[in-house]
Amino acid sequence: MTAEIIDCKQIANAIKAELAKEVAKLSGDGLVPRLAIILVGDDAPSATYVRGKERDGAEVGILMDVYRLGDSEASHRLAGEGDPNQLTLEIRDLIDRLNGDYLVHGIILQLPVPDGVDEGMLLASIDPRKDVDGLHPENQGRILQGDPRYLPATPHAVQQILVRTKNDPGGKHVVIVGRSRLVGLPLANMLVQKRAGGNATVTICHTSTPDLPGYVRAGDIVIAAAGQPGLITADMVRPGAVVIDVGINRVDDATRERGYRLVGDVDHAGVGEVAGAMTPVPGGVGLMTRVMLLTNVVRAARESQRR
Ligand code: NAD
Repeated sequence: MTAEIIDCKQIANAIKAELAKEVAKLSGDGLVPRLAIILVGDDAPSATYVRGKERDGAEVGILMDVYRLGDSEASHRLAGEGDPNQLTLEIRDLIDRLNGDYLVHGIILQLPVPDGVDEGMLLASIDPRKDVDGLHPENQGRILQGDPRYLPATPHAVQQILVRTKNDPGGKHVVIVGRSRLVGLPLANMLVQKRAGGNATVTICHTSTPDLPGYVRAGDIVIAAAGQPGLITADMVRPGAVVIDVGINRVDDATRERGYRLVGDVDHAGVGEVAGAMTPVPGGVGLMTRVMLLTNVVRAARESQRR
C-alpha cells in the first residue's frame, strides 16, 4: 500500500473542537443550538444514523429532539394497509409546528421516507433557514448561484477533507462518479465555483457515461459516489491521484456477527497501490458528514439571532 490513508477522524475531531467552543459561547449567551430530526417508519439504517446524530450533538452541546412518526404504524402504511397521504399530512403538520418554534434552529427529515410519502413536498415545506440538510430547492439553487446558505453535509465533508489535507481542488481536474441530488450534483457545483475550496475543472460521470475508466483516469482527484462496491479499480486511477470514497455499501459477510460489513465504492487494496492519498471506509467521508451537519446547526442558531 503506497497511498496515504487520510485521517478523517483527526479532521473531524478538530472541527468538533471548534464547534464545541462556539456552542459553549452561544449557550453562555442563552442560545442553545437545537436540532429536530423527523424519523418516519422502521428503516434500520436510518435509525442507526439518527442515533449517531444524537450522540454527535450531545458531544458538542447541541440539543437534539427526535420525532418518531409511525414506527409500526408507518410500516403498516408501507405494506399498503394505510394511506401514505395521511402520513404525509402528519409529517407536514409537524414540520409546520417546528418551523414556527423559535427554539428550534434546524429541522431534518431523515431520508428515505416510506414509499408513497411525498418527500419533495415535505422537503420544500421546511423553512429554508432551518433546512440544515441543504435540500430545500431554495438552498440547492443558492449553491448553483454561488451564494450558499447551508452546504449539504456530505459534499461539504468532501470539500473540507480536500482543503484541510492541502489537496485544494483549485486548478485540478476533479472527476465525480455519481450525479445524485444528495452528493454528486451539489458537490460538482461547489467545486466549480470561483471561490476558496472551488476553482476546479469538474467532470461528472454517471450510469450513461461511456468509458468510465477513461474519464476516471484523467482525474487528479477522483470522488466515488455511485453506491457500487469496488467500482473504482486500480487500473482506473492515475498514479498519485487523490481518491475520496463516499460510498457506504453493505456487503454480506458471514464472519461478522451482524452478517455484513461496510465497504466503499473503491477497491481499496488495489487503488491503495496506485493513489497518492485516499479516504477509508468506514471512518472516512461518513464520519466527516456527521460533523458537517453539526456545523450547519450551529450556523442556523447563530443566524437566528439576526431575525
Ligand atoms: P444514488 O443512488 O442516489 O446515486 C448514485 C449515482 O451514481 C447515480 O447518479 C448514478 O448515475 C451513479 N452510478 C451508479 N452506478 C454507476 C456506475 N456503475 N457507473 C457510473 N455511475 C454510476 O446514491 P447517493 O445517495 O448519491 O449515494 C452514493 C453512495 O454514497 C452510496 O453508497 C451511499 O450509501 C453513499 N453515501 C454516503 C454518505 C456519507 O456520509 N459518506 C452520504 C450519502 C451517501
